[in-house]
Amino acid sequence: MSAKILDGKWVREQILAELRPRIAKIAAGARPPGLAVVLVGHDPASEIYVRGKIKTCSELGIYSEKITPPENISTGELLGIIEGLNQRPEIDGILIQVPLPKQVDSRRVLLSIKPDKDVDGFHPVNVGSLVANIPALRACTPAGIIEMLRRYGIPVSGRKAVVVGRSNIVGKPMALLLLHQNATVTICHSKTADLPGECRRAEILVVAIGRPSFVTRDFINPGAIVIDVGQNRGGDGKGVVGDVEPRAALELASAYTPVPGGVGPLTIAMLMANTVQAAEQHLCCG
Ligand code: NAP
Repeated sequence: MSAKILDGKWVREQILAELRPRIAKIAAGARPPGLAVVLVGHDPASEIYVRGKIKTCSELGIYSEKITPPENISTGELLGIIEGLNQRPEIDGILIQVPLPKQVDSRRVLLSIKPDKDVDGFHPVNVGSLVANIPALRACTPAGIIEMLRRYGIPVSGRKAVVVGRSNIVGKPMALLLLHQNATVTICHSKTADLPGECRRAEILVVAIGRPSFVTRDFINPGAIVIDVGQNRGGDGKGVVGDVEPRAALELASAYTPVPGGVGPLTIAMLMANTVQAAEQHLCCG
């Protein structure tokens, strides 16, 4: 078997194309949607991610603002910046690029973002809405994976899904979104007994652990859909490799998201979608 490649760039372009008329309508009615990105310090990887977000905003006609406090900022000072952004009506979304420096209390910072501007979907109010399946801003990467499955016509309802990884930003929201699509979901983590055996039961296997090529042939149920969320630095220090061994996935899976080019492009697309959704909420109900 040779797995069908699930192309994240194709999905991203569809999502962005559908956002354009919504953005034009918002801009014609009032003002463009607005996103503020806060980047503390000069982490090179974070700078690349932020550049990509700002560039996509400008291509779409979303107003964006980059705020770059110094590395040694205190929690109080950062809370002050966020409070200012919370109050500004032309800012619909606030994104705090992580990781934050050690002296900053990340939890307090996360909690200080107004939930209706939390375009990352990490605030406990939005997490609670996710648990209860109430419409709200959803975590971008898992929401993007659901979009990808939908746009490729991959059925989820009634299927066995295994999510490896239980982080608040990928694993847990992914499991809940699959559950809301009526999958039967198992969540695995570093203490799971017989991880390969659990994974082999999956008709849909989502791997988000941050371990290069950790998932090998032994983990893959022939014919499964394999979604590789991993973004790990390559062995030579260059490039990016996933959590799944590509050859195993290509040979055994029926469909597979390669790294790069699979899940990666979806995250920024869903950030844009969340910003547009927040703007529509603010302008109709704010
Ligand atoms: P994380 O916060 O470090 O969480 C990793 C999870 O994997 C934890 O739940 C951990 O289990 C589990 N895990 C680690 N080693 C394991 C093992 N040997 N066996 C089973 N489970 C194991 O990571 P994350 O933020 O969710 O990110 C995961 C990966 O996705 C990373 O490569 C990251 O770069 C990538 N990512 C990509 C995107 C994107 O494509 N746009 C977005 C976000 C993240 P415990 O809870 O037991 O410790």
